[in-house]
Amino acid sequence: MLAFLPAAPAGADETSATDKLRILYSTRFTFTDDGLPMVTVEIASGRKDVHLRAKGGLTVRPDGAGGSAVEADGGDAWTITAEGGKPAVITDWTVVETLGPDDTAGISAALERWKQRGFEPRTFEVGTVFGVDGEVIDTRELRVAVDPVAAGKGGARAAELAKKFNVRTSVHQELVRRPAGTIVARSGATTIRNPSVLWFTAKRGGETIGVTDVPTNTGGSQLATGSEDRRYWGAVYVTLDHDGQLLVANAVGEDKLLAGIVPAEMYPDAPPAALEAQAIAARTELLQKIGRRNLTDPFLLCSSQQCQVYAGAGKEDPRTTKAIEKTRGLVLLRDGGGMVDVRYSASCGGHTEDNDQIWGGDPDPSLRGRADDPKANMTRVTDGNLDAFLEGGGDAWCARGGKNAKERFRWTVTMSASDVTARVAAELPEVGKVKALVAKQRGASGRITVLAIQGERASVEVTGDLRIRRLLGGLKSTLFKVERSGDTFIFHGAGFGHGVGMCQMGAMGMASAGRTNAQILAHYYRGTHLHKLY
Ligand SMILES: [Zn+2]
Repeated sequence: MLAFLPAAPAGADETSATDKLRILYSTRFTFTDDGLPMVTVEIASGRKDVHLRAKGGLTVRPDGAGGSAVEADGGDAWTITAEGGKPAVITDWTVVETLGPDDTAGISAALERWKQRGFEPRTFEVGTVFGVDGEVIDTRELRVAVDPVAAGKGGARAAELAKKFNVRTSVHQELVRRPAGTIVARSGATTIRNPSVLWFTAKRGGETIGVTDVPTNTGGSQLATGSEDRRYWGAVYVTLDHDGQLLVANAVGEDKLLAGIVPAEMYPDAPPAALEAQAIAARTELLQKIGRRNLTDPFLLCSSQQCQVYAGAGKEDPRTTKAIEKTRGLVLLRDGGGMVDVRYSASCGGHTEDNDQIWGGDPDPSLRGRADDPKANMTRVTDGNLDAFLEGGGDAWCARGGKNAKERFRWTVTMSASDVTARVAAELPEVGKVKALVAKQRGASGRITVLAIQGERASVEVTGDLRIRRLLGGLKSTLFKVERSGDTFIFHGAGFGHGVGMCQMGAMGMASAGRTNAQILAHYYRGTHLHKLY
Protein backbone atom coordinates (compact mmCIF):
# COMPACT_ATOMS: atom_id res chain seq x y z
CA MET A 1 0.00 0.00 0.00
CA LEU A 2 1.13 3.48 -0.77
CA ALA A 3 0.67 6.00 1.99
CA PHE A 4 1.91 9.50 2.44
CA LEU A 5 3.68 9.88 5.73
CA PRO A 6 2.88 13.46 6.70
CA ALA A 7 -0.78 12.63 7.04
CA ALA A 8 -2.76 15.81 6.79
CA PRO A 9 -5.13 16.20 9.72
CA ALA A 10 -8.59 15.30 8.49
CA GLY A 11 -10.33 18.04 10.40
CA ALA A 12 -13.83 19.34 9.99
CA ASP A 13 -12.53 22.08 7.71
CA GLU A 14 -11.58 19.41 5.13
CA THR A 15 -14.98 19.84 3.56
CA SER A 16 -14.93 23.62 3.35
CA ALA A 17 -14.26 25.29 0.03
CA THR A 18 -11.11 26.90 1.41
CA ASP A 19 -9.72 23.54 2.32
CA LYS A 20 -10.59 22.00 -1.03
CA LEU A 21 -8.54 24.75 -2.52
CA ARG A 22 -5.70 24.11 -0.12
CA ILE A 23 -5.42 20.58 -1.48
CA LEU A 24 -4.90 21.98 -4.97
CA TYR A 25 -2.02 24.10 -3.71
CA SER A 26 -0.44 21.41 -1.55
CA THR A 27 2.20 18.94 -2.65
CA ARG A 28 0.08 15.99 -1.57
CA PHE A 29 -1.72 13.92 -4.07
CA THR A 30 -4.69 11.65 -3.75
CA PHE A 31 -5.29 8.25 -5.32
CA THR A 32 -7.63 6.83 -7.91
CA ASP A 33 -9.99 3.97 -7.05
CA ASP A 34 -7.44 1.78 -8.78
CA GLY A 35 -4.69 2.83 -6.32
CA LEU A 36 -2.73 5.02 -8.69
CA PRO A 37 -1.63 8.57 -7.89
CA MET A 38 -3.98 11.28 -9.11
CA VAL A 39 -1.95 14.07 -10.70
CA THR A 40 -3.11 17.61 -11.41
CA VAL A 41 -1.78 19.14 -14.63
CA GLU A 42 -2.27 22.66 -15.97
CA ILE A 43 -4.14 22.88 -19.27
CA ALA A 44 -4.27 26.65 -19.85
CA SER A 45 -4.16 29.86 -17.86
CA GLY A 46 -4.68 33.60 -18.36
CA ARG A 47 -8.18 33.00 -19.74
CA LYS A 48 -11.22 35.27 -19.67
CA ASP A 49 -13.46 32.31 -20.40
CA VAL A 50 -13.21 28.55 -20.61
CA HIS A 51 -15.42 26.33 -22.77
CA LEU A 52 -16.01 22.73 -21.75
CA ARG A 53 -18.01 20.02 -23.44
CA ALA A 54 -18.77 16.34 -22.92
CA LYS A 55 -21.03 13.94 -24.74
CA GLY A 56 -23.93 13.21 -22.41
CA GLY A 57 -23.28 16.28 -20.26
CA LEU A 58 -21.08 17.37 -17.39
CA THR A 59 -21.54 17.05 -13.67
CA VAL A 60 -20.51 20.16 -11.73
CA ARG A 61 -18.94 19.62 -8.31
CA PRO A 62 -18.07 22.68 -6.23
CA ASP A 63 -16.24 20.57 -3.63
CA GLY A 64 -13.94 18.57 -5.82
CA ALA A 65 -13.95 15.29 -7.68
CA GLY A 66 -15.24 13.29 -4.73
CA GLY A 67 -17.63 15.96 -3.48
CA SER A 68 -21.34 16.26 -4.01
CA ALA A 69 -22.75 17.24 -7.38
CA VAL A 70 -24.90 20.25 -8.10
CA GLU A 71 -28.38 19.19 -9.17
CA ALA A 72 -28.69 21.29 -12.26
CA ASP A 73 -29.91 20.63 -15.72
CA GLY A 74 -27.01 21.83 -17.82
CA GLY A 75 -26.38 20.64 -21.34
CA ASP A 76 -23.30 19.19 -22.99
CA ALA A 77 -21.53 22.56 -23.24
CA TRP A 78 -20.54 24.93 -20.45
CA THR A 79 -18.95 28.38 -20.44
CA ILE A 80 -17.00 29.40 -17.39
CA THR A 81 -16.05 32.94 -16.45
CA ALA A 82 -14.70 34.68 -13.33
CA GLU A 83 -16.24 37.52 -11.34
CA GLY A 84 -14.19 39.82 -9.16
CA GLY A 85 -10.92 37.99 -9.82
CA LYS A 86 -8.16 39.32 -7.56
CA PRO A 87 -4.53 38.40 -8.23
CA ALA A 88 -2.37 36.37 -5.88
CA VAL A 89 0.35 37.92 -3.77
CA ILE A 90 3.67 36.22 -4.34
CA THR A 91 7.03 36.96 -2.78
CA ASP A 92 10.37 35.97 -4.26
CA TRP A 93 13.00 34.72 -1.83
CA THR A 94 16.64 34.01 -2.58
CA VAL A 95 17.60 30.44 -1.70
CA VAL A 96 21.12 30.54 -0.30
CA GLU A 97 21.48 26.97 1.00
CA THR A 98 19.71 23.67 0.46
CA LEU A 99 19.83 20.91 3.06
CA GLY A 100 18.31 17.56 3.86
CA PRO A 101 15.08 17.95 5.85
CA ASP A 102 16.48 16.01 8.82
CA ASP A 103 19.81 17.81 9.04
CA THR A 104 18.85 19.72 12.18
CA ALA A 105 22.41 20.79 13.04
CA GLY A 106 23.11 21.90 9.47
CA ILE A 107 19.88 23.89 9.34
CA SER A 108 20.61 25.70 12.65
CA ALA A 109 24.14 26.51 11.48
CA ALA A 110 22.86 27.84 8.14
CA LEU A 111 20.25 30.03 9.83
CA GLU A 112 22.88 31.38 12.22
CA ARG A 113 25.32 32.05 9.34
CA TRP A 114 22.78 34.16 7.47
CA LYS A 115 21.66 36.00 10.61
CA GLN A 116 25.28 36.97 11.15
CA ARG A 117 25.33 38.34 7.63
CA GLY A 118 22.45 40.63 8.54
CA PHE A 119 19.48 38.72 7.11
CA GLU A 120 16.33 37.28 8.61
CA PRO A 121 16.49 33.81 7.02
CA ARG A 122 13.51 31.50 6.68
CA THR A 123 13.23 27.85 5.74
CA PHE A 124 10.91 26.31 3.16
CA GLU A 125 10.40 22.59 2.75
CA VAL A 126 9.71 21.31 -0.75
CA GLY A 127 9.17 17.84 -2.17
CA THR A 128 7.20 14.96 -0.74
CA VAL A 129 7.84 11.84 1.25
CA PHE A 130 5.96 8.62 0.93
CA GLY A 131 6.32 5.12 2.23
CA VAL A 132 5.69 1.95 0.30
CA ASP A 133 6.03 -1.52 1.76
CA GLY A 134 8.62 -0.31 4.22
CA GLU A 135 10.69 1.65 1.71
CA VAL A 136 10.56 5.39 2.12
CA ILE A 137 10.85 7.61 -0.92
CA ASP A 138 11.84 11.08 0.14
CA THR A 139 12.20 13.90 -2.38
CA ARG A 140 12.16 16.61 0.27
CA GLU A 141 14.73 19.33 0.62
CA LEU A 142 14.90 22.26 2.97
CA ARG A 143 15.64 25.62 1.44
CA VAL A 144 17.22 28.36 3.54
CA ALA A 145 16.08 31.63 1.98
CA VAL A 146 16.67 35.33 2.63
CA ASP A 147 15.71 38.78 1.46
CA PRO A 148 12.09 38.62 0.25
CA VAL A 149 11.27 40.91 -2.66
CA ALA A 150 8.24 41.42 -4.91
CA ALA A 151 7.48 38.69 -7.45
CA GLY A 152 9.63 39.04 -10.54
CA LYS A 153 12.46 40.80 -8.74
CA GLY A 154 13.89 37.62 -7.21
CA GLY A 155 16.08 36.67 -10.17
CA ALA A 156 18.12 39.85 -10.05
CA ARG A 157 18.36 39.72 -6.26
CA ALA A 158 19.50 36.08 -6.32
CA ALA A 159 22.23 36.95 -8.83
CA GLU A 160 23.45 39.82 -6.62
CA LEU A 161 23.60 37.67 -3.51
CA ALA A 162 25.37 34.86 -5.39
CA LYS A 163 28.09 37.29 -6.36
CA LYS A 164 28.33 39.01 -3.02
CA PHE A 165 28.60 35.84 -0.91
CA ASN A 166 30.06 33.51 -3.54
CA VAL A 167 27.26 30.95 -3.12
CA ARG A 168 24.91 29.22 -5.55
CA THR A 169 21.47 30.82 -5.33
CA SER A 170 18.03 30.26 -6.79
CA VAL A 171 14.58 31.81 -6.40
CA HIS A 172 11.89 30.35 -4.16
CA GLN A 173 8.40 31.72 -4.66
CA GLU A 174 6.15 31.99 -1.68
CA LEU A 175 2.42 32.27 -2.13
CA VAL A 176 1.50 34.88 0.45
CA ARG A 177 -2.13 35.15 -0.62
CA ARG A 178 -4.04 32.98 -3.08
CA PRO A 179 -5.92 34.62 -5.92
CA ALA A 180 -9.61 35.10 -5.10
CA GLY A 181 -12.83 35.47 -7.03
CA THR A 182 -16.03 33.71 -8.01
CA ILE A 183 -16.09 31.03 -10.69
CA VAL A 184 -19.30 31.18 -12.73
CA ALA A 185 -20.39 28.30 -14.94
CA ARG A 186 -23.27 28.66 -17.40
CA SER A 187 -25.05 26.15 -19.57
CA GLY A 188 -28.32 27.11 -21.19
CA ALA A 189 -30.50 28.63 -18.46
CA THR A 190 -28.37 27.15 -15.67
CA THR A 191 -25.82 29.22 -13.75
CA ILE A 192 -23.60 27.88 -10.97
CA ARG A 193 -21.36 30.06 -8.82
CA ASN A 194 -18.67 28.97 -6.38
CA PRO A 195 -15.77 30.72 -4.67
CA SER A 196 -12.40 30.07 -6.37
CA VAL A 197 -12.97 26.67 -7.99
CA LEU A 198 -15.46 24.46 -9.85
CA TRP A 199 -14.91 20.84 -10.81
CA PHE A 200 -16.36 19.05 -13.82
CA THR A 201 -16.67 15.36 -14.64
CA ALA A 202 -18.32 13.68 -17.60
CA LYS A 203 -21.77 12.31 -16.68
CA ARG A 204 -21.27 9.22 -18.80
CA GLY A 205 -18.53 6.77 -17.90
CA GLY A 206 -15.77 6.44 -20.51
CA GLU A 207 -16.33 9.94 -21.89
CA THR A 208 -13.63 12.60 -22.05
CA ILE A 209 -14.06 16.32 -21.41
CA GLY A 210 -13.34 18.67 -24.29
CA VAL A 211 -11.55 21.98 -23.67
CA THR A 212 -11.45 24.49 -26.52
CA ASP A 213 -8.50 26.70 -27.54
CA VAL A 214 -5.73 24.96 -25.61
CA PRO A 215 -2.42 26.57 -26.55
CA THR A 216 -0.35 23.99 -28.40
CA ASN A 217 2.97 25.61 -27.63
CA THR A 218 2.70 24.05 -24.18
CA GLY A 219 2.31 20.62 -25.70
CA GLY A 220 5.79 19.93 -27.00
CA SER A 221 8.25 21.35 -29.47
CA GLN A 222 7.03 19.21 -32.35
CA LEU A 223 3.81 21.19 -32.48
CA ALA A 224 3.55 24.61 -34.00
CA THR A 225 2.48 27.46 -31.76
CA GLY A 226 -1.27 27.89 -31.93
CA SER A 227 -4.28 26.41 -30.24
CA GLU A 228 -6.51 23.40 -30.63
CA ASP A 229 -9.39 21.68 -28.91
CA ARG A 230 -8.22 18.91 -26.60
CA ARG A 231 -9.89 16.16 -24.65
CA TYR A 232 -9.12 14.98 -21.13
CA TRP A 233 -9.75 11.91 -19.03
CA GLY A 234 -10.67 12.24 -15.36
CA ALA A 235 -11.85 15.57 -13.96
CA VAL A 236 -11.29 19.11 -15.17
CA TYR A 237 -11.35 22.00 -12.73
CA VAL A 238 -11.41 25.72 -13.32
CA THR A 239 -9.84 28.05 -10.80
CA LEU A 240 -7.85 31.32 -10.74
CA ASP A 241 -4.25 31.88 -11.80
CA HIS A 242 -1.73 34.31 -10.28
CA ASP A 243 -3.27 37.21 -12.16
CA GLY A 244 -6.81 36.42 -11.03
CA GLN A 245 -7.72 35.12 -14.49
CA LEU A 246 -9.07 31.68 -15.25
CA LEU A 247 -6.89 28.61 -15.11
CA VAL A 248 -8.10 25.23 -16.29
CA ALA A 249 -6.43 22.02 -15.13
CA ASN A 250 -6.87 18.27 -15.37
CA ALA A 251 -6.95 15.85 -12.43
CA VAL A 252 -5.99 12.57 -13.99
CA GLY A 253 -4.74 9.15 -12.92
CA GLU A 254 -1.02 8.44 -13.35
CA ASP A 255 -1.74 5.72 -15.96
CA LYS A 256 -3.83 7.99 -18.18
CA LEU A 257 -1.30 10.80 -17.81
CA LEU A 258 1.64 8.57 -18.78
CA ALA A 259 -0.39 7.10 -21.65
CA GLY A 260 -0.67 10.66 -23.00
CA ILE A 261 2.99 11.49 -22.44
CA VAL A 262 5.02 8.44 -23.50
CA PRO A 263 3.94 8.36 -27.18
CA ALA A 264 5.33 11.91 -27.49
CA GLU A 265 8.65 10.73 -26.06
CA MET A 266 9.32 7.55 -28.04
CA TYR A 267 8.02 6.05 -31.29
CA PRO A 268 5.21 3.67 -30.33
CA ASP A 269 6.58 1.19 -32.88
CA ALA A 270 9.79 0.83 -30.84
CA PRO A 271 10.38 -2.67 -29.44
CA PRO A 272 8.36 -3.35 -26.24
CA ALA A 273 11.36 -3.43 -23.86
CA ALA A 274 12.42 0.06 -25.03
CA LEU A 275 8.88 1.37 -24.51
CA GLU A 276 8.85 -0.20 -21.05
CA ALA A 277 12.17 1.48 -20.18
CA GLN A 278 10.74 4.80 -21.40
CA ALA A 279 7.54 4.26 -19.37
CA ILE A 280 9.56 3.62 -16.20
CA ALA A 281 11.71 6.67 -16.92
CA ALA A 282 8.62 8.84 -17.48
CA ARG A 283 6.98 7.57 -14.26
CA THR A 284 10.14 8.26 -12.25
CA GLU A 285 10.44 11.72 -13.77
CA LEU A 286 6.80 12.44 -13.00
CA LEU A 287 7.02 11.43 -9.33
CA GLN A 288 10.37 13.16 -8.93
CA LYS A 289 8.82 16.46 -10.01
CA ILE A 290 5.81 16.31 -7.72
CA GLY A 291 6.00 18.87 -4.98
CA ARG A 292 9.21 20.42 -6.23
CA ARG A 293 7.80 22.65 -8.94
CA ASN A 294 4.86 24.97 -9.41
CA LEU A 295 4.79 25.52 -5.67
CA THR A 296 2.61 28.61 -5.93
CA ASP A 297 0.24 27.10 -8.49
CA PRO A 298 -3.03 25.19 -7.98
CA PHE A 299 -1.66 22.13 -9.79
CA LEU A 300 1.27 19.74 -9.45
CA LEU A 301 2.63 19.87 -12.99
CA CYS A 302 2.53 22.31 -15.84
CA SER A 303 2.01 20.80 -19.26
CA SER A 304 4.86 22.59 -21.02
CA GLN A 305 8.08 21.07 -22.25
CA GLN A 306 9.96 22.07 -19.10
CA CYS A 307 7.58 20.09 -16.94
CA GLN A 308 6.14 17.27 -18.98
CA VAL A 309 4.69 16.93 -22.44
CA TYR A 310 0.98 16.29 -22.03
CA ALA A 311 -1.63 16.97 -24.65
CA GLY A 312 -4.56 15.15 -23.07
CA ALA A 313 -6.59 12.19 -24.29
CA GLY A 314 -6.48 10.86 -27.83
CA LYS A 315 -2.68 10.76 -28.05
CA GLU A 316 -2.51 7.25 -26.62
CA ASP A 317 -1.16 4.33 -28.55
CA PRO A 318 -2.06 0.77 -27.50
CA ARG A 319 1.62 -0.23 -27.60
CA THR A 320 2.82 2.46 -25.19
CA THR A 321 -0.28 2.01 -23.02
CA LYS A 322 0.62 -1.68 -22.75
CA ALA A 323 4.19 -0.79 -21.70
CA ILE A 324 2.79 1.50 -18.97
CA GLU A 325 0.43 -1.21 -17.71
CA LYS A 326 3.13 -3.86 -17.77
CA THR A 327 5.50 -1.69 -15.69
CA ARG A 328 2.78 -0.50 -13.29
CA GLY A 329 4.30 1.19 -10.22
CA LEU A 330 7.93 0.61 -11.26
CA VAL A 331 10.35 3.48 -10.70
CA LEU A 332 14.12 3.81 -10.89
CA LEU A 333 15.85 4.34 -7.55
CA ARG A 334 19.46 5.09 -6.65
CA ASP A 335 21.15 2.22 -4.84
CA GLY A 336 21.89 4.68 -2.04
CA GLY A 337 18.22 5.76 -1.85
CA GLY A 338 16.11 8.38 -3.58
CA MET A 339 14.75 8.63 -7.08
CA VAL A 340 17.02 8.91 -10.09
CA ASP A 341 17.09 12.29 -11.80
CA VAL A 342 15.96 10.73 -15.06
CA ARG A 343 17.36 12.32 -18.22
CA TYR A 344 17.31 11.06 -21.76
CA SER A 345 17.92 12.20 -25.30
CA ALA A 346 17.23 10.84 -28.77
CA SER A 347 20.73 9.59 -29.63
CA CYS A 348 23.97 9.83 -27.69
CA GLY A 349 25.95 9.24 -30.90
CA GLY A 350 27.97 6.41 -29.39
CA HIS A 351 28.92 7.86 -26.00
CA THR A 352 26.72 9.34 -23.29
CA GLU A 353 27.56 12.61 -21.50
CA ASP A 354 28.11 13.66 -17.87
CA ASN A 355 25.19 15.68 -16.45
CA ASP A 356 27.43 18.46 -15.11
CA GLN A 357 28.98 19.04 -18.55
CA ILE A 358 25.57 19.94 -19.94
CA TRP A 359 23.76 21.68 -17.08
CA GLY A 360 26.53 22.46 -14.58
CA GLY A 361 25.92 21.66 -10.93
CA ASP A 362 27.22 18.66 -9.07
CA PRO A 363 28.25 15.46 -10.86
CA ASP A 364 25.46 12.89 -10.49
CA PRO A 365 26.87 9.37 -10.03
CA SER A 366 23.94 7.84 -11.94
CA LEU A 367 24.43 10.23 -14.87
CA ARG A 368 28.05 9.54 -15.89
CA GLY A 369 29.01 9.39 -19.54
CA ARG A 370 29.94 5.99 -20.95
CA ALA A 371 30.50 4.31 -24.30
CA ASP A 372 27.26 3.12 -25.86
CA ASP A 373 29.15 0.44 -27.74
CA PRO A 374 29.41 -2.78 -25.75
CA LYS A 375 32.74 -3.53 -27.48
CA ALA A 376 34.33 -0.10 -27.13
CA ASN A 377 37.25 0.37 -24.78
CA MET A 378 37.11 4.16 -25.03
CA THR A 379 36.36 5.89 -21.73
CA ARG A 380 35.89 9.34 -23.19
CA VAL A 381 35.88 11.04 -26.56
CA THR A 382 38.69 13.54 -26.94
CA ASP A 383 40.18 15.66 -29.72
CA GLY A 384 42.74 12.86 -30.02
CA ASN A 385 40.33 10.00 -30.75
CA LEU A 386 37.45 12.00 -32.26
CA ASP A 387 38.28 11.12 -35.89
CA ALA A 388 38.37 7.40 -35.13
CA PHE A 389 35.19 7.73 -33.08
CA LEU A 390 33.29 9.51 -35.85
CA GLU A 391 34.42 7.03 -38.49
CA GLY A 392 33.67 3.96 -36.40
CA GLY A 393 31.15 3.11 -33.74
CA GLY A 394 28.83 1.06 -35.92
CA ASP A 395 28.43 -1.39 -33.04
CA ALA A 396 27.03 1.24 -30.68
CA TRP A 397 23.52 0.44 -29.48
CA CYS A 398 22.20 3.65 -30.99
CA ALA A 399 23.58 2.82 -34.43
CA ARG A 400 21.21 -0.17 -34.38
CA GLY A 401 18.14 1.59 -33.05
CA GLY A 402 15.88 1.25 -36.08
CA LYS A 403 13.87 4.10 -37.63
CA ASN A 404 15.89 7.35 -37.95
CA ALA A 405 18.76 5.86 -35.93
CA LYS A 406 21.38 6.16 -38.67
CA GLU A 407 20.87 9.83 -39.53
CA ARG A 408 20.91 10.71 -35.86
CA PHE A 409 23.97 8.61 -35.17
CA ARG A 410 26.18 10.36 -37.75
CA TRP A 411 25.36 13.51 -39.69
CA THR A 412 27.03 16.16 -41.82
CA VAL A 413 25.90 19.75 -42.11
CA THR A 414 27.44 22.26 -44.47
CA MET A 415 27.02 25.96 -43.95
CA SER A 416 28.47 28.82 -45.99
CA ALA A 417 30.85 31.13 -44.15
CA SER A 418 28.46 34.04 -44.73
CA ASP A 419 25.65 31.98 -43.21
CA VAL A 420 27.74 31.23 -40.12
CA THR A 421 28.72 34.90 -39.88
CA ALA A 422 25.08 36.02 -40.11
CA ARG A 423 23.97 33.54 -37.45
CA VAL A 424 26.76 34.56 -35.09
CA ALA A 425 26.17 38.27 -35.76
CA ALA A 426 22.56 37.95 -34.66
CA GLU A 427 23.75 37.20 -31.14
CA LEU A 428 27.36 38.35 -31.06
CA PRO A 429 27.64 41.37 -33.38
CA GLU A 430 31.13 42.19 -32.08
CA VAL A 431 32.68 39.12 -33.76
CA GLY A 432 32.44 40.24 -37.37
CA LYS A 433 33.24 37.84 -40.21
CA VAL A 434 33.74 34.35 -38.74
CA LYS A 435 37.12 32.87 -39.63
CA ALA A 436 37.23 29.72 -37.51
CA LEU A 437 35.29 27.64 -34.99
CA VAL A 438 37.48 25.86 -32.46
CA ALA A 439 36.44 23.38 -29.78
CA LYS A 440 38.08 24.59 -26.55
CA GLN A 441 36.61 22.03 -24.22
CA ARG A 442 34.72 18.77 -24.64
CA GLY A 443 32.69 16.66 -22.21
CA ALA A 444 33.07 12.90 -21.75
CA SER A 445 31.11 12.17 -24.93
CA GLY A 446 33.11 14.67 -26.97
CA ARG A 447 30.29 17.22 -26.87
CA ILE A 448 31.73 20.72 -27.09
CA THR A 449 31.15 22.61 -23.86
CA VAL A 450 33.21 25.67 -24.82
CA LEU A 451 33.41 26.80 -28.44
CA ALA A 452 35.76 29.58 -29.56
CA ILE A 453 34.42 31.68 -32.40
CA GLN A 454 37.29 33.49 -34.06
CA GLY A 455 36.20 36.48 -36.05
CA GLU A 456 37.81 39.30 -38.00
CA ARG A 457 37.00 41.84 -35.29
CA ALA A 458 36.92 39.73 -32.13
CA SER A 459 37.06 36.21 -30.79
CA VAL A 460 34.55 35.01 -28.22
CA GLU A 461 34.01 31.82 -26.30
CA VAL A 462 30.49 30.42 -26.22
CA THR A 463 29.57 28.07 -23.38
CA GLY A 464 26.74 25.61 -23.05
CA ASP A 465 25.37 22.77 -25.16
CA LEU A 466 22.03 24.31 -26.11
CA ARG A 467 23.48 27.76 -26.70
CA ILE A 468 26.14 26.43 -29.07
CA ARG A 469 23.62 24.34 -30.99
CA ARG A 470 21.18 27.21 -31.35
CA LEU A 471 23.84 29.70 -32.33
CA LEU A 472 24.86 27.43 -35.21
CA GLY A 473 21.35 27.14 -36.57
CA GLY A 474 20.07 24.23 -34.50
CA LEU A 475 22.68 21.50 -34.92
CA LYS A 476 21.58 18.04 -33.75
CA SER A 477 24.31 17.99 -31.11
CA THR A 478 27.58 19.59 -30.04
CA LEU A 479 29.41 16.32 -30.67
CA PHE A 480 31.08 17.43 -33.89
CA LYS A 481 34.28 18.38 -35.59
CA VAL A 482 34.29 21.27 -37.99
CA GLU A 483 36.28 21.66 -41.20
CA ARG A 484 36.71 24.73 -43.32
CA SER A 485 36.74 24.17 -47.06
CA GLY A 486 37.01 27.41 -49.00
CA ASP A 487 33.90 29.39 -48.16
CA THR A 488 32.15 26.48 -46.47
CA PHE A 489 32.07 25.13 -42.94
CA ILE A 490 31.49 21.38 -42.76
CA PHE A 491 30.23 19.93 -39.48
CA HIS A 492 30.78 16.18 -39.03
CA GLY A 493 28.60 15.25 -36.11
CA ALA A 494 27.25 12.42 -33.99
CA GLY A 495 24.09 12.06 -31.94
CA PHE A 496 20.91 14.05 -31.44
CA GLY A 497 20.38 15.84 -28.13
CA HIS A 498 22.40 16.38 -24.95
CA GLY A 499 23.39 12.74 -24.57
CA VAL A 500 22.88 12.54 -20.78
CA GLY A 501 21.22 9.45 -19.29
CA MET A 502 19.26 7.09 -21.51
CA CYS A 503 20.00 7.09 -25.22
CA GLN A 504 16.58 6.40 -26.73
CA MET A 505 17.92 5.03 -30.01
CA GLY A 506 20.29 2.92 -27.94
CA ALA A 507 17.40 1.65 -25.83
CA MET A 508 15.70 0.56 -29.06
CA GLY A 509 18.92 -1.09 -30.24
CA MET A 510 19.26 -2.96 -26.95
CA ALA A 511 15.61 -4.00 -27.02
CA SER A 512 15.99 -5.30 -30.59
CA ALA A 513 18.94 -7.37 -29.38
CA GLY A 514 16.75 -8.97 -26.72
CA ARG A 515 17.70 -6.89 -23.67
CA THR A 516 15.02 -6.29 -21.00
CA ASN A 517 13.79 -2.94 -19.69
CA ALA A 518 15.85 -3.52 -16.51
CA GLN A 519 19.03 -4.19 -18.53
CA ILE A 520 18.47 -1.08 -20.63
CA LEU A 521 17.97 1.15 -17.58
CA ALA A 522 20.95 -0.39 -15.75
CA HIS A 523 23.16 0.36 -18.76
CA TYR A 524 22.24 4.05 -18.96
CA TYR A 525 21.75 4.85 -15.26
CA ARG A 526 24.55 3.46 -13.13
CA GLY A 527 24.18 2.45 -9.50
CA THR A 528 20.40 2.20 -9.76
CA HIS A 529 17.71 -0.44 -9.39
CA LEU A 530 14.02 -0.85 -10.11
CA HIS A 531 11.46 -0.70 -7.33
CA LYS A 532 7.72 -1.31 -7.47
CA LEU A 533 5.98 1.61 -5.76
CA TYR A 534 2.38 0.53 -6.35
ZN1 LIG B 1 23.60 5.92 -27.84
